[in-house]
Amino acid sequence: MLSITCAECNAAICHYQKDGPGMLRRMYLDRMNTHNLTTNDLMCPNCKRLLGSYMIYEKENRPAYRLFVGSVNKAIVKAAK
Ligand SMILES: [Zn+2]
Repeated sequence: MLSITCAECNAAICHYQKDGPGMLRRMYLDRMNTHNLTTNDLMCPNCKRLLGSYMIYEKENRPAYRLFVGSVNKAIVKAAK
């Protein structure tokens, strides 16, 4: 599980269950742990910085946010045992 925060103001954006290794370039809406989901672009609730743009990942026909480079910070959160 990843904790996603705004790179600008460090506000919490969501928790995210990443599938597969490698860079986090997009976040699928069905793997985001937040109640703030919209079909608009992803925006920081605190500083209103634009973090990513809404897209449909065509290979899987899944709604996702394409993250802008350097827009968010990621920290690994270990699941409770
Ligand atoms: Zn922010």
